[in-house]
Order: sequence, then structure tokens, then C-alpha cells
Amino acid sequence: MADEVNPFLSLQEQIDNAAAHVDVDAGTVERLKHPERVLETNLAVELDDGTTEVFKAFRSQFNGVRGPYKGGVRYHPQVDRDEVAALSGWMAVKCAVVNIPYGGGKGGIRVDPDDYSTAELERLTRAFATEIAPLIGVDRDVPAPDVNTGQREMNWIKDTYETIERTTEPGVVTGKAIDSGGSQGRVEATGRSVALTAREAFDYLGMDLSGATVAVQGYGNVGSIAAGLLDDLGADVVAVSDSSGAAYDPEGLDPRAARATKDDTGDVVDHTERTLTNEQLLTLDVDLLVPAALENAIDETIARDVNASVIVEGANGPLTPAADDVFAERDVSVFPDVLANAGGVTVSYFEWVQNRQRFYWSEERVNDELETVVVDAFDELTAAYEEGDLPTLRVAAYVVAIRRIASAAQQSGTWP
Ligand code: NAD
Repeated sequence: MADEVNPFLSLQEQIDNAAAHVDVDAGTVERLKHPERVLETNLAVELDDGTTEVFKAFRSQFNGVRGPYKGGVRYHPQVDRDEVAALSGWMAVKCAVVNIPYGGGKGGIRVDPDDYSTAELERLTRAFATEIAPLIGVDRDVPAPDVNTGQREMNWIKDTYETIERTTEPGVVTGKAIDSGGSQGRVEATGRSVALTAREAFDYLGMDLSGATVAVQGYGNVGSIAAGLLDDLGADVVAVSDSSGAAYDPEGLDPRAARATKDDTGDVVDHTERTLTNEQLLTLDVDLLVPAALENAIDETIARDVNASVIVEGANGPLTPAADDVFAERDVSVFPDVLANAGGVTVSYFEWVQNRQRFYWSEERVNDELETVVVDAFDELTAAYEEGDLPTLRVAAYVVAIRRIASAAQQSGTWP
């Protein structure tokens, strides 16, 4: 894994690369390369033993010209300002690629949640919510879950905000539990958009997804849902992995049974007799590879050995920029994260719409609306790729996003 890449510099490079293909002035591009503001705060939290610990935390707001800032809150020991700023920028791009009316946001607390009790994590989350309360709001900035946060943390943030503001405003965060104003279909949404992108990609490339072989790296929420839906579409999922290693059956395995094994034993590798290392999974001779674990999982060395002809990115940033170059040289089709995993933020948007209307949709309606968004975005991206004769589909995605954001920015003008 290449871990020395500064994500904020990668974001700026990606914007520069794409802006070269867009008719946009230099000042507007410069504006697109920086967050509007980053809150840095130090949260003093009482631990169960009566001592106090201070945690560094951030919230970055990146280009709100198309709507409220939108993005997750992550709890991780490596959270820092550059990472949070970059992730907020990618959210602005992702929301523009799928054309939902949001800017980018991201937050994080530097903490390993495994080291703390539930009561300590609740106090920490409420301290964070109190700090960001003046910045967030249904029309300002709408947090969501990210690494190591979920429905529980969103419910705490919502409750803290509503208590401070003396209101009920469920749309202040998304990714809530259903009984607290969450949406049907939200948990499955990201894996669903990965599977829909794969379906559209095979159709676009003139390949048959039915009978195609698939390897999935990462068997959490995104990877396991995507694998089950790809199986429903007729693909043969032959290998799936988590941090324990990979389960492998060249005849095709049952992805939902593999998930049940992981839930049961903790390790997906227990599902089959034949197993692989994660590196062997990434270089397996399959039609489709879905990296759905971590950022920078595939560097240029691994990229040279990858045998798949199509990659659909489930994780955020699973390829290093150098790996991207190798795939472009080798004519491997990479369908980028900002399209493929945008299902999560899209159904978050549906959740927010439902919260505002206080009117809730069926799961069928959520899934139908999601399919429309993903298919439309796919068509717009591939049209931009062909019309602009662009080097990669990732550049095409950034071109589509920059056009939309720059157009809104130019229409707004600058003030004062
Ligand atoms: P998760 O924690 O549910 O699952 C992650 C999986 O990756 C786990 O099975 C873990 O064991 C596995 N893993 C970790 N290290 C690995 C390694 N070295 N090799 C193989 N597997 C490894 O997380 P998730 O929600 O599925 O998110 C996965 C990725 O998708 C992340 O990059 C996340 O930012 C991105 N993403 C998630 C969502 C969402 O809605 N959940 C939305 C957009 C993007």
C-alpha cells in the first residue's frame, strides 16, 4: 500500500488535470482547489475513570455554491486537517457528478473508538456536535456516517443539535436509524450503486455481465452488498476478501452465504477451503475487480499485475494516481469512485428530502430513484469522455463536476 500520498495534494492535482479540459478561468479553478473553511477544535471529554482527555477534531466545508455542505464524520487515529479537507473536496466533486444539490463536507475526530466505552464515545460525539452546531443545519451543512461511525453517532448528533436549537430537525444529519428519520435503502445504497455501475459499464463496453467473473476486495457494507447484487445480475463472484484474507471458489461462491460466514466467525476467509492472500485476489484472472476496502489499496506495482479488464471502485480512492496511469496505459477500464460509490450520498439526499417533507418513501421507490440517478450520471460521464476525447473516465467525472460547480460559481459571482 502506498501510504505517503498527501490526499489534499492528490485532490488538487485531479482538479488541475481535469480543469485543463474545461473552459474555465484560473481564478474559478483556484477557488475549487481549497475548502471554504476548516474548523479545528480540541474536545475535552471526561472518561469513565474521572480523568479528562483532549481529542483533536475537524469539520471542513468545501464549496457550498451548489447547496449545503454534505459529508461524513470519521473516527480514526490518523484523522488530520489535509485528509479531512481532501475528503470534503471529493464530496463536492461526487455530489456534482451525480447532480445532487450539495457542496462538500467532511469531519473527523482523531480517536480509535475501540479504546473507549459507549458512554465515553457518546460524550465525545456530543462534544463534537456542540462545537459544530453553529456550522451545521439542514440548509447549511449536513453530516453523515463515515469510517467507524454509523446510525448511533448520527442519532447522538441529531439529538444534541435539536436540544441546543430547541427544535426538531431530523434532516440536520443523514444515515440515521429508520425510527429516527432514516431512509429505507440507505444501508444498501452504496453497494447498490457499485452493482448498477458495473451493469452499465459492461453494457457500455459490449461485455456480458451474466457469467462474468468477479473479485471483491473488502467485505464490509459496500463489498458484501455489491457482491450479492452482482450475483443477482448473473455474475460469478469467485473471490471475496477482508483483512483476514480471501475466500476463493473458481466455480463461483454464494456472496450472501459468505457474508453470513463473516458475521458468524468474524473472517470471510473461513467461507471456503481454497483461500488466497489479498494480493492474489487483486491479481486474479477475472473480468471485474471491485476494490471496496481502503484508499490506496492498489499501487503501481500491483496495477501492473492486475488481470481484470474492468475495475469498478467501491472504496474511496482505492487506486493511487500512479496506479491510475498504469491502467490508462494498459487500457483497463476504471469506473471511478465518485460515480460508483455515490449511491450512499444519493440516498442520504433522499433521506434529507424525506425529512424536509416529513413524508417517507417505500424501499422500492428509493431504489428506483437511485437507479435513475446512477444511470443518468453514467450516461453523462461517458458522453463527456467521448465528446472531449478525455484520457480517462476519472478525468471525465471531474470535468462534469467542474463544469457544474464552475457554472454555478460564475452565476453567483463574488461578493462583496
Ligand atoms: P466497512 O468497515 O464496512 O468494510 C471495510 C472492509 O474492508 C472490511 O471487511 C475490512 O475487513 C476490509 N479490509 C480492511 N483492510 C483490508 C485489506 N487490507 N484487504 C482486504 N480487505 C480489507 O466499510 P465500508 O462502509 O464497506 O466502506 C468501504 C469503503 O467504501 C471505504 O473506502 C469507504 O470510505 C467507502 N465508502 C463507503 C460508503 C458507505 O456508504 N458505507 C459510501 C461511500 C464510500
